[in-house]
Amino acid sequence: MEEDCIFCQIIDGKREADMVYQDETFVAFRDINPKAPVHILIIPRKHIASINHITEGDKGLMGEMFLVAQKVAQKVGVREKGYKLVFNVGRGGGQIIDHLHLHLLGGWENSGERDVPGLP
Ligand code: 5GP
Ligand code: ZN
Repeated sequence: MEEDCIFCQIIDGKREADMVYQDETFVAFRDINPKAPVHILIIPRKHIASINHITEGDKGLMGEMFLVAQKVAQKVGVREKGYKLVFNVGRGGGQIIDHLHLHLLGGWENSGERDVPGLP
């Protein structure tokens, strides 16, 4: 727990969030400023600043994170239609919050709406 980390505060229940999934290791909640009809942030309870800060010891955690993404996609109803998974890394990569998070984006009606500026 990092006192001044917004996402640690959400994990700790000190800051409100629209939770969609929780387990022992991860929580997932709706992004406050969604860039897609469905925009969820999946975060480990452990404070890791970014992909640049993961170590050998986090291999299991990182694998598990994608299984959580699959479960969350199912839960919010985008698993079959499809979705994007994105990590922003560092300020140059668009990362604003320094607590590792996987963006799950989906729910678009058509491909024109889907193409997020700056993303493949
Ligand atoms: P980043 O740019 O760091 O990859 O993404 C951070 C994301 O967190 C942004 O999409 C932003 O809208 C979201 N965000 C920032 N503060 C809060 C908050 O207090 N609650 C929620 N639910 N999302 C937040
Ligand atoms: Zn944190």
